[in-house]
Amino acid sequence: MSRAFDKTRRIFKRRRGIGAMKLLMVGAGLSGAVLARELAVAGHQITVIDQRGHIAGNCHTERDAETGVLVHVYGPHIFHTDDAQVWNYVQRFSSFKPYLNRVKTTAQGAVFSLPINLHTINQFYGRTMTPDEARAFIDAQADKTITDPQTFEEQALRFVGPDLYEAFFKGYTMKQWGCSPRELPASILKRLPVRFNYDDNYFAHKFQGMPEDGYTPLVARILDHPAIDVHLNTAFTPDLAARHDHVFWSGALDGYFGNRLGRLGYRTLDFKRSVGHGDVQGCAVMNYGDTDVPWTRITEHKHFSPWEVHEGTVCYHEYARACDEGDIPYYPIRLVQEKALLSDYITLAKATGGVTFVGRLGTYRYLDMDVTIREALDTVETFSAALAAGQTPPVFAVNPL
Ligand code: UDP
Repeated sequence: MSRAFDKTRRIFKRRRGIGAMKLLMVGAGLSGAVLARELAVAGHQITVIDQRGHIAGNCHTERDAETGVLVHVYGPHIFHTDDAQVWNYVQRFSSFKPYLNRVKTTAQGAVFSLPINLHTINQFYGRTMTPDEARAFIDAQADKTITDPQTFEEQALRFVGPDLYEAFFKGYTMKQWGCSPRELPASILKRLPVRFNYDDNYFAHKFQGMPEDGYTPLVARILDHPAIDVHLNTAFTPDLAARHDHVFWSGALDGYFGNRLGRLGYRTLDFKRSVGHGDVQGCAVMNYGDTDVPWTRITEHKHFSPWEVHEGTVCYHEYARACDEGDIPYYPIRLVQEKALLSDYITLAKATGGVTFVGRLGTYRYLDMDVTIREALDTVETFSAALAAGQTPPVFAVNPL
């Protein structure tokens, strides 16, 4: 245990009774909110700060002023999980409406169903194959020389072959990530299934849905606890940290250190808003696989809340680009050079006391919402166990590498 931490802990034991600490949560997204809530329930006093003017981080939702449509301000967020505990957890703070993500893609002059399924395959090849026939057909195109796919491209060529890869993945991925799929890890493509039936549900998870009034009210209810104080438009300062016993940091890992060792690579997104009447594209998300279309996808937000009725409609064209200073980081890139820099930041972080790095940005990983919540719950357990054992709280509750 670091001496500074030991001293503050002893002071607070005296001031507020055994175990009660004054904790600073940097970031009011899902990680910050769940940690704040559970640590407040455990008896600690929590200050939550966020530099933006709203809670809920990148799952923030708000009503579009012109159309009244509920908008996923930072892009599509659909809740899906196999984790019953996480599913039950979010139900406590919002009613959820059943929602299945059915994504389409426009590529090579036609519209196809995603994720790649029997309908996609039959339509793409102009065939009427059965599941077994399609499996054999795709298998014949797969590159069997690739036994252990490491890159995105190898994964695609091994499992769907060159035609489907070129049409649906190559162009989209180059636009999304700004590099060749040969440079990206196979894990990105492993997020998407390939199905030899007509199931076009984008996710295979047991529990799927959408919070009825959006993610921001859900996060607001998580944060609604007498031991939690939330301060928006508030930047982190060392002074603020000094007034607390421990910091949980859900901002960018490199940002905590003022990018001292260099900047970790992220992709950011730009959105171009447009409004219309009725139904403009007929689905919530339309991807665009061709490189001559500059956007990656168009989201028509009203389709995320099919239980609501709105005359107007609002669409966001989504464009991905490199994240510069001052941009909002969305996707950690994690190419080879970033992994090396990440490793250096981990070493630096482990030599720093009084802070725990959490969430997508704090651990520099591509996390879905359910995993973020699961890790936040687990981090509270780890933190509490460390305190109970008189040990220093962990700098990382999960291994970011
Ligand atoms: N992807 C693709 N074509 C698509 C959809 C996805 O090539 O039409 C690739 C792309 O590299 C993307 C990854 O698969 O980053 C994961 O897709 P997902 O839909 O999970 O992305 P998210 O919604 O998290 O941006």
